[in-house]
Amino acid sequence: MYEFKIKNTRLKIKLGDITDEETDVIVNAANSSLMGGRGVDGAIHKKGGPSILAECIEIRKTLPMGLPTGEAVMTNSGLLKAKRIIHTVGPVWNGGSHGEPELLKNTYFNSLLMAKRNSLKTISFPSISTGAFGYPVKLAAPTALNAIADFVYSEDSIDTIFLVLFHESDLSEYVNAAKNLFKN
Ligand code: ADP
Repeated sequence: MYEFKIKNTRLKIKLGDITDEETDVIVNAANSSLMGGRGVDGAIHKKGGPSILAECIEIRKTLPMGLPTGEAVMTNSGLLKAKRIIHTVGPVWNGGSHGEPELLKNTYFNSLLMAKRNSLKTISFPSISTGAFGYPVKLAAPTALNAIADFVYSEDSIDTIFLVLFHESDLSEYVNAAKNLFKN
């Protein structure tokens, strides 16, 4: 576990499976259908059980075109230990000049805003977009961390933010980026 402090917020970066997190809320790297998928999305629905998909289906009634990239919605967490799930849709990597960095920032910022609005104090993120969506981790890591820092400086409401990485190599990228940005 690697720890950094941004203002009054603790940022903890670790290796792990996000479905085991016991934080107030975990973030799902969903797709716009909200109907489940592979990767972290599949793992969350599989372990959390059908009540999560049932609520996603209800939400889709208000979003017939699906959840736009960069936005976030919240559901119950079914059988998981975390209290809630925030579903967000990261950008598909398409070379980097199609707004990908801004959209990736939005996923982190809007998820944190959703947590704040619901008085949730601890939150766990996976590495959004860097699996099936193909966003290079080396570029995603500093963008994710910048979005987190922007949120903490402008909103200041979350106690602890966890980044839960599934691969050693991803852990190194996020830790190196955090050392460069936060220098502690
Ligand atoms: P995206 O479609 O946004 O790229 P993916 O789920 O394909 O989402 O991948 C995002 C990251 O989440 C990848 O690094 C993947 O290895 C990782 N991942 C997959 N399963 C889990 C899990 N259970 N906990 C944490 N991270 C996971």
